[in-house]
Amino acid sequence: MAYCKYIPMPVFTPEGRDRFWRRVEKRGNDECWPWLGHRTGGYGTVDFFIEGKSRSMKAHRVAYFLHTEEDPREMGVCHRCDNPSCCNPSHFFLGTHDDNMADKARKGRVARASSKFTFEEVMQIRERAAAGGRVSFLAKELGVASESIRNIVNGTSYRNLPVLPRKPTPLGRIPKSQKPDHPATSTSN
Ligand SMILES: [Zn+2]
Repeated sequence: MAYCKYIPMPVFTPEGRDRFWRRVEKRGNDECWPWLGHRTGGYGTVDFFIEGKSRSMKAHRVAYFLHTEEDPREMGVCHRCDNPSCCNPSHFFLGTHDDNMADKARKGRVARASSKFTFEEVMQIRERAAAGGRVSFLAKELGVASESIRNIVNGTSYRNLPVLPRKPTPLGRIPKSQKPDHPATSTSN
């Protein structure tokens, strides 16, 4: 289950490409290329009109697309350089969201207070917990207390973001409609 709807990359005219790259500070081949436009949570964002709706996309994903001509689709475009606003295509690698989380955990970037989680990380945690991921396992992987993960999963923290229901187990709860509320007694007089 994806937490955000996959939005296909828009069609770019040559002028559109130029306009995009003008908002990237191109430096040396090995250096980070910062996004000069708007940022959200450290990531550069760029707005498009797609099918009459304004859509915000991450600038580095667009940079990946314009460089490779491949829409990353549901894959994550991750940064080797750990610099979210960087748009240097040579600093990207494609990964699943799990890869991205594991990569961050390995680099120790996520060992910090729960209040520092990004929107994406919160939704990844909720998604994985909903799919049956254990709180203790996630906490260990991310280097935070189980309490922080539990609060994220049950919605005590990050109330502004949607909480995902856990997938029902085969022996889950009886749906309310099937549960007799009262013993079968006659109520008629
Ligand atoms: Zn970089």
